[in-house]
Amino acid sequence: MTYRVTLIPGDGSGPELVEAARRVLEATGVPLEWDVQQAGMGAMERYGVPLPDSVLDSIRANRVALKGPITTPLGTGFRSVNVAIRRELDLYANVRPARTMVGIPRCFPNVDLVVVRENTECLYVGVEHEVIPGEAAESIRIITRRATERIVRFAFEYARAHHRRKVTAVHKANILKVTDGLFLKVAREVAADYPDIAFEDLIVDNMCLQLVQWPQDYDVIVTPNLYGDILSDLCSGLVGGLGVAPGANIGDGIAVFEPVHGSAPQFAGQNRLNPCAVILSGAMMLRYLGEEEAAQQVERAVAAVIAEGRAVTFDLKPTRDDPTAVGTQEMADAIIAAME
Ligand code: NAD
Repeated sequence: MTYRVTLIPGDGSGPELVEAARRVLEATGVPLEWDVQQAGMGAMERYGVPLPDSVLDSIRANRVALKGPITTPLGTGFRSVNVAIRRELDLYANVRPARTMVGIPRCFPNVDLVVVRENTECLYVGVEHEVIPGEAAESIRIITRRATERIVRFAFEYARAHHRRKVTAVHKANILKVTDGLFLKVAREVAADYPDIAFEDLIVDNMCLQLVQWPQDYDVIVTPNLYGDILSDLCSGLVGGLGVAPGANIGDGIAVFEPVHGSAPQFAGQNRLNPCAVILSGAMMLRYLGEEEAAQQVERAVAAVIAEGRAVTFDLKPTRDDPTAVGTQEMADAIIAAME
């Protein structure tokens, strides 16, 4: 059986990273047929829109996609294509694992946690306007029982399926008593259905402190969209940075896999960035497709290359200007070689 997968190269540094990942995934021998779709800056120039309908139609038809990062202009310009894909396809759970790997400089030992970020609401509904032009602006933050219940349930089901012991709900219910108050209330209700899994809640500022002091104490973290966005970058930093941080956007019977990182446009076309975040997102995709053995093969090869520390990109060297750092495609070559 051949898997037909939507492949979105993205923009900025995305296309070269996605190309490296495509080569690694094909080297597993799993039959993958790529339905390549353009979104982001390139699509804007070519079609006049950053997210052509054909991209969403392709993902709807194939039910699975591997996506590179896409630039979102600051302040003005088109709204986030990344957020639009998640919302349009109701990919409500953003799953971002952070795990210590041997050989990564500047990382905490024994971290193995997963941030489960609500992906469809909170401040990301993007309902904002100027109250007094140039002087005051306001943004609407939406938290619903429905979205909270399904993301917290997802986190507990994920914990059960992956033999994890604890779920931590992160919020700011001391200040945002209505919105995060609702999130916390619903999280506690859902937690009562899972007596086999420990549950606790933490205020987001305290969570940041705890994570940079005792990250080993955390397992599954479930949180509204904005806190999840910020905490997952922080968690990536604990285990080596954005170059090794994969992610998945999961809905009911549909999923888009993409790294935590953005399009890093200042590196575009330089063959310098670490392809592992996209490659490991691809491994998550293989696992989702039921190709567990191939997923593990990719993860083992990535781990072996990183542990050896020779054919790795600059971010995984002891210093950023290390002359022995290899390029994006060369690191992918080393990972492919480690799979044989
Ligand atoms: P970024 O994640 O693109 O880059 C931040 C820094 O992280 C980079 O300067 C680089 O030092 C490091 N980094 C990122 N990817 C790396 C890799 N593969 N290997 C090694 N180091 C890596 O964040 P940014 O600069 O804030 O955002 C750039 C653009 O990406 C913005 O337009 C933003 O909106 C967008 N973005 C998109 C997504 C997405 O597509 N899902 C996610 C985040 C940001």
